[in-house]
Amino acid sequence: MGGTFDPIHFGHLVTAEASRAAFGLEQVIFIPSGNPPHKQDRTVTPAEHRYLMTVLATSTNPYFRVSRTEIDRVGPSYTVDTIEELRGVVGPDTLIYFITGADAVMELMTWNRPQDILAQCELIAATRPGYPPADFQRLRQAIPQVSAARVHTIEVPALAISSSDIRRRVESGEPIKYLVPETVEQYILKSSLYERPRTAGGHGHGRLAEMWL
Ligand code: ATP
Ligand code: MG
Repeated sequence: MGGTFDPIHFGHLVTAEASRAAFGLEQVIFIPSGNPPHKQDRTVTPAEHRYLMTVLATSTNPYFRVSRTEIDRVGPSYTVDTIEELRGVVGPDTLIYFITGADAVMELMTWNRPQDILAQCELIAATRPGYPPADFQRLRQAIPQVSAARVHTIEVPALAISSSDIRRRVESGEPIKYLVPETVEQYILKSSLYERPRTAGGHGHGRLAEMWL
């Protein structure tokens, strides 16, 4: 499961666990992105913070792992490179599923080398509020015939949680309790993530954390 995870939240975790159970997955590997090509429009939190939050959030699930491959990669990180790298590690006989939310999967055809992604793995697209199942019809139409059978859909409890909403909440002082694991909430507070940018000359823990990471 790839993502920016800025921060990771219960929407990601529920989706991963539901996919694991429904498809009998041996493990779910969370892959925080390095320099996400789709999110050039805003400043993404330094990768080490996002990686650590992902580790904290997944540590209690024995099936969950976190990979550093994209954050350690130099240059833009593309899903296709990650999948091909993973294929090299697990060999030709292991089935790989790429887990995404419905919003992300709808953009698949705009990603780098979508055909090569679909050649190496099957997709699990989780429904998300605002993305009714009818949209998957459009996706199946957009994807060439040969790949259609490799796109699966899964219904997860309608979680309207998003990282953008969590960032907005922190910035405006609203609670994020029960939207993210407690360890992640504490990490966000401790590292002063997502607080309103300080004016020049201001000093806060956020600036300190940035200096050290
Ligand atoms: P942002 O609001 O910044 O876009 P996000 O909450 O969508 O963040 P990402 O890191 O962009 O989180 O998402 C990683 C993957 O998880 C994507 O495939 C996305 O569709 C999926 N996803 C995110 N939130 C949910 C949710 N609540 N339920 C199911 N899937 C989700
Ligand atoms: Mg998103």
